[in-house]
Amino acid sequence: MAFTHTTPMVLHPVPAFSDNYIWILHDNTAAVVVDPGETRGVMDYLSARGLRTEAILVTHHHADHTAGALALREATGARLIAPATEWLGVDAERVHEGSVLSLLGLDWHVLDVPGHTAGHVAYLARSEGLVPHSTQWLFCGDTLFSGGCGRLFEGSPAQMLASLDKLAALPGDTLVCGTHEYTLGNLRFAREADPDNHVLAGWQAHCEDLRQAGQPTLPARLARELDINPFLRVRQPALVQAAQAHSPLAQDDVAVFAALREWKNVFR
Ligand code: ZN
Ligand code: FE
Repeated sequence: MAFTHTTPMVLHPVPAFSDNYIWILHDNTAAVVVDPGETRGVMDYLSARGLRTEAILVTHHHADHTAGALALREATGARLIAPATEWLGVDAERVHEGSVLSLLGLDWHVLDVPGHTAGHVAYLARSEGLVPHSTQWLFCGDTLFSGGCGRLFEGSPAQMLASLDKLAALPGDTLVCGTHEYTLGNLRFAREADPDNHVLAGWQAHCEDLRQAGQPTLPARLARELDINPFLRVRQPALVQAAQAHSPLAQDDVAVFAALREWKNVFR
């Protein structure tokens, strides 16, 4: 008989800098820390609960995601895991598309998601085996946010769109754990680009309430993102029309995506 253990997992965002979240997933004994741009709030959280840090995961090389990682490893003895082609010169275990890690009793699947940076990866944590409708957590760094996506610093629009399409194909109940609280700004732009979307209007109102109450808007359910995030909706007629009104050259999926991304860059 198969035995399925169902340890409840706790997901906690540690706020850092002006709008970063350092995600901690733990089972009350061991923890995984994602993108520690600093150590202070993270160490406080871990030691207050007596958590052993099993691993530190890095999604991409930017300092707001990495600057605390070495000190945190030093302090905890945790494994340090980083993308195969980024944040080089650091002694870390390297992962890429197809790598699978076993942490906290979960399988962590690595996805290559180039675009924000060239070697950006995402981590999808889920229990394997016969656990229908179990939660899965997507730690996607600066690739996907609620209502938006990361800026294209190193990748092309075609690469970023392919990365977002890959994430969009994950199960709808996936919890999207992006690294920045950009939601309200993203949703203001989304309303401009997709003004008749009532699900979007409802999510915006809800997120305004959350922020008013000092609560994070993340994690966000992927199924909702498919309904509201313009960068996951570049094939929807409303978004195609809006992109073309803004940039007449937006004649295919990639060009619509590029036009929306550039429009967002200058949107106030
Ligand atoms: Zn970044
Ligand atoms: Fe960042």
